[in-house]
Amino acid sequence: MEKQSAYRKTSEIVRRYDFNFRKRFGQNFLTDEGVLQQIVSSSHITENDLVIEIGPGIGTLTRYLCEAACQVAAIEIDRDLVKILHETLSDCKNLRIVEGDVLKVNLCGLAAEYGVSDTSGSTASSGGLSHEAAAVSPESGQAFRCRHLKVVANLPYYITTPILMGLFEQHVPAERVTVMVQKEVADRMTARCGSRDYGSLSLAVQYYARPEIVTLVPASSFMPSPKVDSAVVTMQLYKDKPVQAKDEQLLKAIIRAAFGQRRKTLSNALGNAPQIPVTRDQTAKTLTALGLPASARGETLSLQQFAQLADALADLIRA
Ligand code: SAM
Repeated sequence: MEKQSAYRKTSEIVRRYDFNFRKRFGQNFLTDEGVLQQIVSSSHITENDLVIEIGPGIGTLTRYLCEAACQVAAIEIDRDLVKILHETLSDCKNLRIVEGDVLKVNLCGLAAEYGVSDTSGSTASSGGLSHEAAAVSPESGQAFRCRHLKVVANLPYYITTPILMGLFEQHVPAERVTVMVQKEVADRMTARCGSRDYGSLSLAVQYYARPEIVTLVPASSFMPSPKVDSAVVTMQLYKDKPVQAKDEQLLKAIIRAAFGQRRKTLSNALGNAPQIPVTRDQTAKTLTALGLPASARGETLSLQQFAQLADALADLIRA
């Protein structure tokens, strides 16, 4: 019954507005009420939260988010959908629809407009509001105060990695990020050292957050059905990272080189990477000094071991 109702509503809006799905924007709308509810519950949204939603589509998930959160800012690239959203969600007084490309929107600036500028819930830093202040919603004129930011999205799959990396690397002050992604990507995000799916995405995500697969979602849960199955992944971002590299850029370059040439030993892969100024011999000796085999491959190193290697090589490069 319930599952049908999101499907029915989606079909009705698509028909009423004569909406044409744009493949290039990754438009596959979620129509499974059960999964929509799982996304909301795994996002841990409270009435003090600001939610930034990426790609609201026709707003099925958005409505749930508006019910759970203090304020919702939904970023949509498709102008036709923005028009539809303004009409169909006109009763959601805590919703702001931002028309634009999420990769170009200043998400830290957007969060600061709502008083959220760090993950601790403090709003006192520059650009944000004072801790005691309440902001006034431009949409409703009502006063509100958001304490924490949650990011929620049924992601457009063609830009999954740039969106996730943008959130992490720009230090968007989110406490939790919950996203629908391709199942294969979810497997890579959550893979542990030594497993088949372990690679640069696993390490990049796990450096910033603790990812968990919430549920698998079959292609039939979307309109239109995509060619792949999907999964919801929730990520609690670390306030204090358990692994912290001295030089994050070098760590990233090492990981990229290690998995760019997966079959090669680390010493060879790093020796061939022009942006990492170390020789094969230096890497081999450093690995041995860390108690690792000189012939180790990237897929055998944990995040912590990669960080130790990066720190040791950073010292060597600086010396
Ligand atoms: N949230 C809706 C749902 O769950 O049914 C739609 C999800 S659909 C997979 C992805 C949405 O992201 C579409 O509405 C699409 O137009 C939008 N989108 C695609 N690229 C975008 C971008 N660069 N910036 C913002 N939105 C984008």
